[in-house]
Amino acid sequence: MNTNDLRSRLERRRAQLARALNAPETFLRASVFTRTRRCGGATCRCAKGKGHTTAYLATNHPGGKTEQISLPPDLVPEARRWVAAYRSWWRSAEKISAINLELFRRRWVEPRKPAPRGKA
Ligand SMILES: [Zn+2]
Repeated sequence: MNTNDLRSRLERRRAQLARALNAPETFLRASVFTRTRRCGGATCRCAKGKGHTTAYLATNHPGGKTEQISLPPDLVPEARRWVAAYRSWWRSAEKISAINLELFRRRWVEPRKPAPRGKA
C-alpha cells in the first residue's frame, strides 16, 4: 500500500471512530457486579436455596477510592447498558488517539496557519 492510501485509510478510520464518539448522555464509568448472601432467617428460602443476589455499581475515584452503590434489580439492565456505552466510547477514543500518534509519527499533521494579525 502506498503512503497516500495508508494516510487516507487512517483518516477515514478516524472519521468513523469520531462519529462513534458522538456519545449519548447515558454512559457510566463503573462496573456492575453481584453478590449473593444468606440473610440468616431460618425459614427464608435462602437458608436452603442459593441466597439473595444483590447488584452493585462500583466505580473508582481519583486517588484510588472505590465507591459502591447498590442497584435495584429493575435498574441492572440499564446500568449494564450505560457501562457498555462508556467502554465503547472509551475504546473509540483510544483508537483515535493511536491513529493520531501514527499521523504525527509520519508527519501527516498540518500545522495550523497562524491567525492573521488584526490591524491595530
Ligand atoms: Zn434470606
